Amino acid sequence: MTPARTMAPDAHARSAPSTPRLTAHRTRFAPAPTGYLHLGHVANAIWVWRLARETGARVLLRIEDHDRKRCRPAYDAALLEDLEWLGFVADDGPVRQSDDEGPYAAALDQLRREDAAYGCDCSRSTFEKWADDHARRWHGPGCPGGCRDRALDGPVLRVALGGGSEAWMDLLVGPCTDEVAADGDVPIRDRDGNWTYAFSVVVDDLRQGVDLVVRGRDLLAATAVQIRLARRLGRTSPPTFAHHSLLRDADGRRLSKADGATGVRELRTVGMTAQEVIDLAAAAAGPPDLEPNEHAGFGVSHQG
Ligand SMILES: [Zn+2]
Repeated sequence: MTPARTMAPDAHARSAPSTPRLTAHRTRFAPAPTGYLHLGHVANAIWVWRLARETGARVLLRIEDHDRKRCRPAYDAALLEDLEWLGFVADDGPVRQSDDEGPYAAALDQLRREDAAYGCDCSRSTFEKWADDHARRWHGPGCPGGCRDRALDGPVLRVALGGGSEAWMDLLVGPCTDEVAADGDVPIRDRDGNWTYAFSVVVDDLRQGVDLVVRGRDLLAATAVQIRLARRLGRTSPPTFAHHSLLRDADGRRLSKADGATGVRELRTVGMTAQEVIDLAAAAAGPPDLEPNEHAGFGVSHQG
């Protein structure tokens, strides 16, 4: 469960021993094989393995290859090799979303039985036209074409999520509340017949017993939808979420792959050691805004 090396600068090692500790059963590290491992993945891995250690959770390695168009076997193999080189060893997996279609089809059947899944032929321009006509963004529930009442077969499938909001206590952000239908009902299958990210991760986290989700803050806005979708699929208690900050350069600007020099392969090629790569990612991720244990006692405890 524990990576072989010290993973983080001093700021990451602080803890508040007087607060109650969160326990969790399982978390996951879940890269998509649509490119090589980069420093953003490494920062995420530092957080995943750190919070796994602190909560007693096992780490599942899940390869998220639901997007058949963009995923490549060569990237898949390279992700595994770079992770091993860095010293991040998962307790379970790797499992791939492409290993078994069954769970997604079963989840779709369940939504259909509850009349919660529907075909939709709205294009981007349907949404844009609605927004132009009404001088605001589409806000749901549903979609602007009223597809739920039209009994379409697809190609896109959406899940009726209803309105309102979801609240959760984020381990690293603090208390959060977000509107569920801020962009209408979310697609669960896309135009190419692929299960969407939102749908596949919710199905996977549920069936794989993941009760701690550790990921970058760019996915904070996807959380309310995923909590609601999980409820639709019968999950009574949502996972605990921990959204960590994203990589920044020395001037505080967000680093992305487009900035170059963030690929683990490139850094290996120029002679950096695994520890140096980990230190670089930890430094770019910056000190945590909040210590996780500050929130650990707040209604999110999973007693193991
Ligand atoms: Zn529609």
